[in-house]
Amino acid sequence: MFRIGIDDTDSPAGMCTTYLAAVLIRRLHRAGVRVIEARLVRLNPNVPEKTRGNAAICLVAEGSLHTAFHLACRAVEELAEMSHEGTHPGVAACGQVPPPDFYLRAVRGFCTVDEAISLLGEWGALFKGYKAGRGLIGATAAICSHFDDFTYELLLYRRRARFGTPREVDRQSLFAADAVTYPHTWDTVDRENGIVVCVPHTPDPVLLGIRGERPGWLALARESVVSERPACEQLFVTNQGTDAHIVPGEIGRLEEGHSYLVGGAVHSRAVTIRGGHVCLPLTDGKMMLPCMAYEPTRGFRDVVRALLPGDKVRAAGSYKRGSLNLEKIEVVSAPPLLLSRPPLCERCGKRMTSAGTGKGYKCRRCGGRKGAPGVVAVPRAVSPGWYEVPPSARRHLARPLCRGVREDFLRACTSDVQPQDPPGNDHGSGLHA
Ligand code: ZN
Repeated sequence: MFRIGIDDTDSPAGMCTTYLAAVLIRRLHRAGVRVIEARLVRLNPNVPEKTRGNAAICLVAEGSLHTAFHLACRAVEELAEMSHEGTHPGVAACGQVPPPDFYLRAVRGFCTVDEAISLLGEWGALFKGYKAGRGLIGATAAICSHFDDFTYELLLYRRRARFGTPREVDRQSLFAADAVTYPHTWDTVDRENGIVVCVPHTPDPVLLGIRGERPGWLALARESVVSERPACEQLFVTNQGTDAHIVPGEIGRLEEGHSYLVGGAVHSRAVTIRGGHVCLPLTDGKMMLPCMAYEPTRGFRDVVRALLPGDKVRAAGSYKRGSLNLEKIEVVSAPPLLLSRPPLCERCGKRMTSAGTGKGYKCRRCGGRKGAPGVVAVPRAVSPGWYEVPPSARRHLARPLCRGVREDFLRACTSDVQPQDPPGNDHGSGLHA
């Protein structure tokens, strides 16, 4: 048994590494190499060179490693967008499975081509980098990939003659597929916003992709889909929808281009800036972290806008240019807003009025007096629980809430805040008036 890793064969103008893999798998079978598993390995979405999904491929196979490596290189030379300036393919094949460290670093942080080459040499892998060879990073990460958690994606590819033409997929059939299989499949459509999510708009060979928990659910969803005739279909095991990119983090200790779950309190109300983007300042009691909900996250922004100072939250997203780009947020506590207002007169029931600063309240009708104000609890527009961006704005790696939240994260991340300086503010007391 051996593994083949392939990365960086596409460009914004076309191709898709998963399509190259689908073609290669069929060629390998004809050459007597049996592919046992095809993996779609998503890597750090914040790598600046990557404008698209940052996906690598790992094929787990049986047969001749040399034949497989040769065919993989041939497929890359034939199909990769080699003329595009940003495309630098890499292919690697290895008879052993190195430890997952390199994969974890490539999904959560950054790796270099030199580190990849050194690891491939150490493990006796066959490898080839094209042009700057940057794809060797993803190819190596794919070979080292280990999924604690995984999902599946069934990808349908277009016939070559149709590449670049509008895709013919019946919209209603996708809503039907979702209705039958959600929450065991997700991101087929965005029901809240009435948008089809699973059909790309880029000129690549993908017709559509269905994501879900188990192959059986994907097959069931697939049965509902009405579309142009695909050239082929390929099932991938993937780290999509698992939050593999996220680690627990602390405000003030976040690294650029990494993704985190952080806890804290809302410092002040969210501000809507130009373009409809929303910025929510979080604090741990000492440091501040701006959290962004961008315009494409649509209704999710209303959740962020409804938060008030002192509310406790846990927020997940990527740290870029000094702010956390929200993927989901847990409202841990959002106590009712307590407003003080003049009390009702105990004798005649009329609302009293202020008798002057520090002098309590008096009744204009009967002259009755009272010292303390009444307190009214105003219900909140947001209640405790998790909220996520809609499917149309979701990142490939982000775990949809229909799959639940990783328990190990929650244990590692608290929303408790340190007492502020000076102490005695309204954090946690719920008295905002
Ligand atoms: Zn009165």
